[in-house]
Amino acid sequence: MTVAAHKETLSFQAEVSQVLNLVIRSLYSNKEIFLRELISNASDAAEKLRFEALTDDALYENDALLRIRVSYDADTRTVTVADNGIGMSRQEVNDTIGTIASSGTKKFLESLTGDASKDNVLIGQFGVGFYSAFIVADKITLTTRRAGLGTEHGVRWESEGKGDYSIETVEKASRGTEVTLHLREDEGEFLAGYRLRNIVSKFSDHIALPIEMLEELYGEDKEKKQPQWEQVNRGTALWQRNKAEVKEEEYNEFYKHIAHDFEDPLLHIHNRVEGNNEYSALLYVPARAPYDMWDRDPKHGVKLYVRRVFIMDEAEKLMPHYLRFIKGVVDSDDLPLNVSREILQHNKKIDSIRTANTKRVLGELEKLAANDAEKYAKFWKEFGKALKEGPVEDHANREKIAGLLRFASTQTDEQNVSLDAYIERMKEGQEKLYYITAETLAAAKHSPHLEVFKKKGIEVLLMTDRVDEWLMSHLHDYKEKKFQSVAKGELDLGKIGGEEEKEAQEKAAKEHKKLLDRVKDGLGDSVKEVRVSSRLTESPACLVVEDHDMSANLARVLKQIGQDAPLPKPILEINAEHPLVQRLEGEQDSERFNELAKILFDQALLAEGGQLDDPAGFVHRLNKLMLSMAG
Ligand code: ADP
Ligand code: MG
Repeated sequence: MTVAAHKETLSFQAEVSQVLNLVIRSLYSNKEIFLRELISNASDAAEKLRFEALTDDALYENDALLRIRVSYDADTRTVTVADNGIGMSRQEVNDTIGTIASSGTKKFLESLTGDASKDNVLIGQFGVGFYSAFIVADKITLTTRRAGLGTEHGVRWESEGKGDYSIETVEKASRGTEVTLHLREDEGEFLAGYRLRNIVSKFSDHIALPIEMLEELYGEDKEKKQPQWEQVNRGTALWQRNKAEVKEEEYNEFYKHIAHDFEDPLLHIHNRVEGNNEYSALLYVPARAPYDMWDRDPKHGVKLYVRRVFIMDEAEKLMPHYLRFIKGVVDSDDLPLNVSREILQHNKKIDSIRTANTKRVLGELEKLAANDAEKYAKFWKEFGKALKEGPVEDHANREKIAGLLRFASTQTDEQNVSLDAYIERMKEGQEKLYYITAETLAAAKHSPHLEVFKKKGIEVLLMTDRVDEWLMSHLHDYKEKKFQSVAKGELDLGKIGGEEEKEAQEKAAKEHKKLLDRVKDGLGDSVKEVRVSSRLTESPACLVVEDHDMSANLARVLKQIGQDAPLPKPILEINAEHPLVQRLEGEQDSERFNELAKILFDQALLAEGGQLDDPAGFVHRLNKLMLSMAG
């Protein structure tokens, strides 16, 4: 045993001490949560054991009554949380306690703001739960043995939280983990039974296995009796309870436990479904987007239980991808205990649970939007971009999801215009839902494509999230009204345009036919067509593409992410009323004419956020023009 038993002192991963200091500082005002975090881990460990024991009963070691014990010792000034869960091997202790569990530590440190109220929230998201014990302890001793390993494979880990820890192999008769906190000088308040019981019932009542404490004996009893362990929490699975009986705080504490979050959720959705597919679902919308929401493989947040037995985390089949931020629990009465991810892939029961979960979440969001605009705005800010993937992924709910979307528009910079509100404000005779996509709000707002809409007071939705292009290539209508990009196709304002305008337009096209031909000749292959515009009131020219072409903005976005998309050939529309165009029309010198035409084209490209093929050429031509004006 001597080799295995050797004691090593190891340094924490560089970031750990930094995180530790931060945790202590920013969570101090809420220090009692250390107990919640340790109990939460003990409960996770019990669930892991129960799951592994489904296929290997021996792991129970003849002790299948899982429980958590909290005790204190006033003489040694310690508080201990002990579980008979799965335990850890030496390697596991090194991997999970010596490094901060989450791979996101670096990201975490980068995202810190220095503002304690904001950082508190971040800390919760990065799984530093265990370290919260250093808020009240100046030394932590963790002794553990993994279920199934011999008693000589116990491990003792110890640290003062100052940069290093020691680890050694010890004898441990019982499996599971015991965490002993050596309390700091000022933290004597936790050496009291009533105080600890209070904390347990405040934060951990929902934990589904018994949390036990020794009974407190007074007077004579203290001498005569042996104190017995007694259960101090309710100990039933929260999601099994009747929702009328569950208090808001209980829902919130349960959320923090399963989501490893420190902040209350935005809302919860609790259902029990009877019939031939019986299950309970308790789902939460968090208050904040997880830091990995945009990673390639983001974590899903719904856990699967079968008849109260924890089966798996991140059961991604229980929610569609665009709702990956939903956290919670689904507990099925009908699935077999040995379900695997593979089985879940093609399981009718799971499919129907997902469909129902989706409907419920969307329904609750509709209610939230209708009843609490401020809270909905918060939701939108965090999760709006994910929701925009919905109409693409989930055809069946497309209309419902579209109703939940919010956009900026020519009436507001904030993303708070719903499609219903837009429709309400549509002008007499307006048939389409107009929108523009651009890379920034400024580019969208000032785009020449909007000029006629502004003049006529027609609202246009401004779409500047990257996902918008993708969304709009799949969302063609809403409540039987078609979407129309203002940068695509022939502008047809329908009845709002009026017959006279149409006639004037046709007349102008004839009148300026020669000019249009000359410009087309001058620009050659770079444009598909040159025509008179009815979109412009102030700018001399703009570029548009055909209705069925990819928008120029999308082509640019694709290029940025490394996908080479063939740029659609644009149509140059010119404003025949504009003095610059009139000046062009009068230009006899064909070389000068072509240069002016080129400037017009390049300007139009710049105005919509495009990039010039030959920027230096543009500057050169512009300078020449300016000089000729000066002269
Ligand atoms: P999280 O619970 O979010 O993973 P923690 O910092 O609370 O983060 O815990 C880190 C890891 O340490 C856990 O994921 C688990 O692997 C391990 N761990 C902590 N406490 C226990 C315990 N009582 N039993 C078994 N493993 C534990
Ligand atoms: Mg934890």
